[in-house]
Amino acid sequence: MKACVLTDWKTLQMMDVPKPVPKEGEVVIHVKYAGVCGSDVNVFNHNHPTATVPRIMCHEILGTIDEINAAGPLDYKVGTRVVVCPLTWCGKCEACRAGAFHVCRNLGILGLHRDGGFAEYVAVDADMVFPVPDELTDEEAILTEPFAVGFHLNSRAGVQPGDTVLVYGGGPIGLMAAINARYFRAERVVISEPNPERRAYVASFGFETVDPSQRDIVEAAMEMTNGVGFDKVIEASGAAPAWRTLTDVCRIRGVIAPVGIPKGFAELKVVQLIFKEQTILGNRVYTREHFMRTIGMLKELRSTCQLERIVDQFMPLEKLPEAIDTQMNGRNKGKIVMVI
Ligand SMILES: [Zn+2]
Ligand SMILES: [Zn+2]
Repeated sequence: MKACVLTDWKTLQMMDVPKPVPKEGEVVIHVKYAGVCGSDVNVFNHNHPTATVPRIMCHEILGTIDEINAAGPLDYKVGTRVVVCPLTWCGKCEACRAGAFHVCRNLGILGLHRDGGFAEYVAVDADMVFPVPDELTDEEAILTEPFAVGFHLNSRAGVQPGDTVLVYGGGPIGLMAAINARYFRAERVVISEPNPERRAYVASFGFETVDPSQRDIVEAAMEMTNGVGFDKVIEASGAAPAWRTLTDVCRIRGVIAPVGIPKGFAELKVVQLIFKEQTILGNRVYTREHFMRTIGMLKELRSTCQLERIVDQFMPLEKLPEAIDTQMNGRNKGKIVMVI
């Protein structure tokens, strides 16, 4: 089968590799769409602490079931359209024993620790595969994984009707977190993004925006909230300096929910965090339940939000090096999806 393989760090090669054979409890998926994510860039650049090469990257996968080597009952059969929850876990550590598999001490992610979707076929655990409802198009369903990140985040942050939410970063994860916040009935959702193209793009989805390179973000946040601060602050930019203002823009007893991964250390105003009794809440991927609920959410969202506009480029697999470069330099507004 054809695959685009990370043969060494920063080296991608189109290759002919053996089609995977499903082990017991696994299925093989014929991949149609494979989404490009910021974490693929981290793996490509050897910035991920535990990823290894050679590796077929990609954890955002939509395709059809090609082969099943698992006992039933299953809610799909050969030919069913599916999306993949790309996590693997050890089942033995303290997190797994407590049922929190998504924060497993030995968490594995498809495309990082085992081969992922930048190939014609991929083998995955049979219980990590979810049928795509007929109501969703392929172009909508490929967004399940990154939307699940936003669903988990908003759910953990406890975003509720009437909330004001400030999102740092208008990249794909920031945009999808903001759309989720609106789905959770936040009254006002503002996105802070310095890149003018990205700002215009997220604004076209109906969000208020702030340009933090032109305007002091703390001043802007205070003005927008009558001097109170936002109820929930989502950090999706991954920029370490953003952390310096998180406690300023968040209200007393508000929640700060980071999901962007900063390089190295970030500075936080700890005294303010204590005095304002704020909660800071880490967020790692999503639970399998939240992944499943995201599929249902997409069905509801499609009538109110132009989901298909979130993918701004479809590219053939052969162009993966170009796609990684575009993602690395933030030249994409929305998602890049490879067509296999
Ligand atoms: Zn991703
Ligand atoms: Zn574990």
